[in-house]
Amino acid sequence: MASEPPCKLSGHLPYRRSFHNFRATLRFHTAWTHSSRSGHAVLHPVEDRYRRREYSRDMVDAVLFDLDETLLDRTKSLRAFLRDQFERHADRLGHVRSDEWCARFLVLDKRGRVHKSVVYPNILAEFGGRVEHADILLADYRARCARFAQPFDGMGAVLKELRARGLALGIVTNGETEFQSRHVEALELDGLVDAVLISEREGLRKPDAALFLRAATACRTQPSRCLFVGDNPVADVLGAHAAGMSTAWFHGSAEWPTDAPSNPGASIDHLSQVLALARP
Ligand SMILES: [Mg+2]
Repeated sequence: MASEPPCKLSGHLPYRRSFHNFRATLRFHTAWTHSSRSGHAVLHPVEDRYRRREYSRDMVDAVLFDLDETLLDRTKSLRAFLRDQFERHADRLGHVRSDEWCARFLVLDKRGRVHKSVVYPNILAEFGGRVEHADILLADYRARCARFAQPFDGMGAVLKELRARGLALGIVTNGETEFQSRHVEALELDGLVDAVLISEREGLRKPDAALFLRAATACRTQPSRCLFVGDNPVADVLGAHAAGMSTAWFHGSAEWPTDAPSNPGASIDHLSQVLALARP
């Protein structure tokens, strides 16, 4: 299998197994999707037969990755952008040094969970800057941030090795289509993966199981044959696990939240560790 060339979605994917249980999986997830649309919580418990099985190297057909803080070193990239933005707009930002501006921005940003249309007015107000300048800074962020995109160590080599093993690869990210697409392009990921699913374009957000199912389908396999790698315990790990996938939590220096169910899968602190979990 390792001798087969990488292949795109439009081409042949190296499937070795039947889709014997796939229709049953699809029926289950269809029901789940309807439940989600009715407004119920999306993190339902799954039936026992779809619970994560123990890691088995021969069960992996596809590896799916989150983007921010998983493939993209977002904090490092954002710091680089903010330093550049500060230099270009310093006269409008109030009485603050570049390092103070960057540090406070990262706090207010909360690892991307707070929209920048909220962060910019707040940080300008804190430092006595021109709050009416927030829209200009936001537009600048959208237009230029991806220029500073930096991958985590080993990203390209790991993805190429997984492709060489015949595995399908995908990215599942929450975010705005144009912004995230620019980062995918900046990291030169479009030539390395089979599918990119961005929440705005898909009309679904992690941890909605329907988005994970769609990603598995895009990689022409079923959730139980996917390994999902991500940094967010809820949106990535518990979301993918609830959809029937194996998981790897890329934790960095973070602790697993004490108020969440326990980590159902592996924990890694370097992307190269994915190779031990995803051998066909
Ligand atoms: Mg992330």
